[in-house]
Amino acid sequence: MTCHIHNLKEVSNHYGEDGKPDIAVPERCFLCGKKDCRFELANLDQKYSEIVFDWGYMCSVCYKRYDSEKYHWNGKDWDKRCTKCGEMKNMSLFYQRKSTQTIGGKTYPRNDPTSWCIDCTKEWGNSLSLAKKALNNKNI
Ligand SMILES: [Zn+2]
Ligand SMILES: [Zn+2]
Repeated sequence: MTCHIHNLKEVSNHYGEDGKPDIAVPERCFLCGKKDCRFELANLDQKYSEIVFDWGYMCSVCYKRYDSEKYHWNGKDWDKRCTKCGEMKNMSLFYQRKSTQTIGGKTYPRNDPTSWCIDCTKEWGNSLSLAKKALNNKNI
């Protein structure tokens, strides 16, 4: 098996006595490529067939998503399940809310996708303005 983090060495060479691999913390999240963030070592457990190694350092965002039913790593990018229409859609089809997260006194910027996809949010906005219009018409 090939380790992408350690340049084509056997993954099994990296396991320490505690059963965890002895992998240096990378500069970038191996999934999304983000730099300058907090990293978590994840046991990938070959959950997704396109990932051929067992352990990897992910940024805290990817780490949380990796274990979530709502997210799916498509090999390039995250997909997310919209809680309104229930469809798995690419992250670019969701609005992003900018926020920050403070861990251990350090503040990290993060983007949180909204729980509804853009289509559903727009649809909801339209129905809301229609309802408002209807209400205004009643008041006249
Ligand atoms: Zn990441
Ligand atoms: Zn939706």
